[in-house]
Amino acid sequence: MESQHHEKSSHANHEERRASLAGELEAAASPIAREAGDPSLPGGPRRADPEVDAEADAPAADEQAALDHRQIGRRLDLFHQREEAPGMVFWHPAGFDLFERLVAAARRVLRAQGYREVRTPQLLRAPVWEASGHARHFADGMIHAAGEGPRESLKPVSCPGHLYIAHQRAPSYRDLPLRYAEFGVVHRNELSGALQGLLRLRQFTQDDGHILCADVDAARREAIRFCAALPAFYRAFGFDALEVALATRPADRAGDDASWDQAEGALRGALDELGVDHAIVPGGGAFYGPKIEYTLRDRQGRGWQCGTIQFDLVMPRRFDVAYVDAEGERRPPVMLHRALFGSVERFLAVLLEHHGVDLPLWLAPVQAWILPVSEAQAGAAEALAAELQGRGVRAEARVDGTLGRRVALARARGVPRLWVVGRRELAEGRVAVRERGGEPVSRDREDAIAGLVAECAAP
Ligand SMILES: [Zn+2]
Repeated sequence: MESQHHEKSSHANHEERRASLAGELEAAASPIAREAGDPSLPGGPRRADPEVDAEADAPAADEQAALDHRQIGRRLDLFHQREEAPGMVFWHPAGFDLFERLVAAARRVLRAQGYREVRTPQLLRAPVWEASGHARHFADGMIHAAGEGPRESLKPVSCPGHLYIAHQRAPSYRDLPLRYAEFGVVHRNELSGALQGLLRLRQFTQDDGHILCADVDAARREAIRFCAALPAFYRAFGFDALEVALATRPADRAGDDASWDQAEGALRGALDELGVDHAIVPGGGAFYGPKIEYTLRDRQGRGWQCGTIQFDLVMPRRFDVAYVDAEGERRPPVMLHRALFGSVERFLAVLLEHHGVDLPLWLAPVQAWILPVSEAQAGAAEALAAELQGRGVRAEARVDGTLGRRVALARARGVPRLWVVGRRELAEGRVAVRERGGEPVSRDREDAIAGLVAECAAP
């Protein structure tokens, strides 16, 4: 499945949506509008010492810069990119932790919905991409391995790999629906001018999943399960405004009209049954099937298409995937592609541009700083931080510098909870708790710990 992984301007957004709507096999056939982009790779040399707190005194030059995910990535020490690997990402420890929290959130949905995770090869030979249509429709986007022997290419999608697993399994109707998912590392050749931080990469992680169903009605039920979970999933990341669109048959398409009627009817039926308001994008479907798309609206009003579920009337036949029905007949399954994020890296960029450094508590790289008022409480602060860490909170004691400076630094880094421990708090078994933008509130130490542990947990 195609997950498009960038948009910035509304024009690019529209064009990208169009490209996305066209789907993976069609991506090259309907040219993606390449915005000029920022040719310079982000991630210039970092300060030698990340602990230097000069940044606390030097807030971002303007609001726009404060919401550029590359700048936030630098400020929070999440990742960098460099010309030695254009369009790819060097994840730093805090950034990779954050990346993994996104993956874990998607994994919770996969488990709840009965998917099994799989992993499939990065390099696949030319006949695979001829069967999938990529060799013809996505030729410019493929990255080929050099060397002797049959030509191999880095996968731009994981779908064929999953179909091989299904083919190998030769399922019966009792095994359906068969749900496979992969956090697949995929490669796509992008022009260097089109690369843009995490929004458009040559290597990224696509959370594609595939469902093989016995018939269209089973596919409709799967679409309902998928769509029902999405609002809460996105809300946990701080996205409340969702737009839903049903993209229907394009002029140039595979499959007969009766199949298209059924497939579009199934997706429309799923949205109607859930009572989801949606737009219709006539002709916006992929050539292989119609799709539902979810667009998130960020704080700056920009739309980002992320979640999608797509019918595929073509690929199971091309990979000779069939199931055995109750009468012992081989039948082609109805196939769906679906993704929550599309590209995990791109979703992370959108998240950073939506929130700035002030990520939701459960996602924040550091959730709490414990600040002793003076050196005398340093040991107690360290012990408190250690206790919180033991209970799963990403907490750190910060001892150096004046209290005012540490508080300012915490604000610059978006640390969501500050606990101040002075002589009086220590004597009374209390802490002064400060939430983002709030005033300090004195709380009983044990109550405060229990409360923080609960609110830091992933939803
Ligand atoms: Zn797919």
